[in-house]
Amino acid sequence: MTTAPGTTTPAATAWDYAPAPERVPVTIADSYGHFIDGAFTPAGKTMPTLNPATEETLSDVTVGSEADVDRAVQAARKALPAWSALPGAERGKYLYRIARRIQERARELAVLETMDGGKPIKESRDVDVPIVAHHFFYHAGWADKLKYAFAGATPSPVGVCGQIIPWNFPLLMAAWKIAPALACGNTVVIKPAETTPLSLLRLAEIFEEVGLPKGVVNVITGDRDTGGALAQHPGLDKIAFTGSTAVGKKLAKVAAERNIPITLELGGKSPNIVFEDGAIDQAIEGVVRGIYFNQGHVCCAGSRLFVQESIHDEVVRRLTHRMKSLRVGDPLDKNTDVGAINSREQLDRIEAYLGTADSEGAQRHACSSTGTPGGKGYWCEPTFFTGVQEAHTLAREEVFGPVLAVMTFRTPEEALMRANNTPYGLSAGVWTDKGAKIFSVATKLKAGVVWCNTFNNFDPAAPFGGYRESGFGREGGVQGLRAYVKL
Ligand code: NAD
Ligand code: MN
Repeated sequence: MTTAPGTTTPAATAWDYAPAPERVPVTIADSYGHFIDGAFTPAGKTMPTLNPATEETLSDVTVGSEADVDRAVQAARKALPAWSALPGAERGKYLYRIARRIQERARELAVLETMDGGKPIKESRDVDVPIVAHHFFYHAGWADKLKYAFAGATPSPVGVCGQIIPWNFPLLMAAWKIAPALACGNTVVIKPAETTPLSLLRLAEIFEEVGLPKGVVNVITGDRDTGGALAQHPGLDKIAFTGSTAVGKKLAKVAAERNIPITLELGGKSPNIVFEDGAIDQAIEGVVRGIYFNQGHVCCAGSRLFVQESIHDEVVRRLTHRMKSLRVGDPLDKNTDVGAINSREQLDRIEAYLGTADSEGAQRHACSSTGTPGGKGYWCEPTFFTGVQEAHTLAREEVFGPVLAVMTFRTPEEALMRANNTPYGLSAGVWTDKGAKIFSVATKLKAGVVWCNTFNNFDPAAPFGGYRESGFGREGGVQGLRAYVKL
């Protein structure tokens, strides 16, 4: 266990919880191939996927080659005419069956998601998997009503969609991309991230179980080269990507050269603005949920906290107090709030940012009730910094870890100016007792999603997406359908 320089709050020792591990057994094969044309292929050249809490290899998954990608795209192409010609109500039935089967296998999917990615079971069980099922239900409802979604226009499918997703919400990002694509009559080739392929492979089993026609969804596992091969495949009619801004920019170039549509959901440096008239404890809860749950591996994480100057000390005091009850540790334990960092690489990135913040002169505060577990696994104690200046790296760059920058403001105008002073624009939070202030501030925030007196709440019916370097296009809601139709 490393002890951070600066103020580190000692763990509470008076009493502790007994371990409460989730015990649903989940079988994981030694190795996996791809899911192409309705069947699993034999494993080829593989790479390991680890459990980041134990550093043990869970399975070896195939690194997709150009030839694998080509076969998957061909399968999606072959499946397209029949799938897109199916009446919407029939497509809807498949989506509905998928949603039901996800519910039936929910606990297994949650355990697998937690083992492969490191997020607490509380999150995968109560947040990720229910919203995944909800997304398929929601889009099942749209499949036969598309003509009402686009008044006066006749929607038709875009075609074969290449989808590339990240490791922070592996199953949820897959659902966000697959469900609207299928509802609109498209076929899909999707690639999960290197570190979290297992839940999507399990979803492919569900596609097989519900009899989804062959080739409608194909899953190709692999690394960035596999992703590159997919994005550059001439057989694609559309690209959808969620991940880092750097890769998103590369893919935008590929799509522009080929003149095909692309949607990008990239990083963020989202602000939470707490006014002195806001309900402080409620705000603290939202801030904690926004940056510490899921280890800060959230693209719309509220990583910058702007506090009105008059309540700064009180907010810091109560934030520290709340954080002292956060439990860091075994992601499969039902009492765990903060699980394992997804990979060694990501932990290294976060630690580099912590070092930079120290050297730039901000004050580090690391607090939890447990400290970080010793031994194996990748861990980072929930941390915030005070004394952060606008020019500090921590105020400008996405850390993608449980690290919060606390800053102050005096007037609503200053709060707005500073909150908008970022190349990103994914989400924002506003905490105030005054309805008029909510409207005046929320409408001037340059962010795709603005939460008022709450944070990180999701609904399949509400569109999600960014401004500026956070990307473009929306996922969810009637707006999210637009990316998957031609009018
Ligand atoms: P990444 O963007 O490199 O990876 C995301 C996905 O893209 C993965 O499936 C990966 O295999 C694939 N990929 C990588 N390079 C590619 C390429 N050249 N062509 C096609 N596909 C490619 O993200 P990362 O390296 O895992 O994480 C780096 C940073 O990205 C993180 O620190 C974080 O800031 C950010 N990130 C953001 C999100 C988000 O939801 N917005 C998610 C994950 C990571
Ligand atoms: Mn893994």
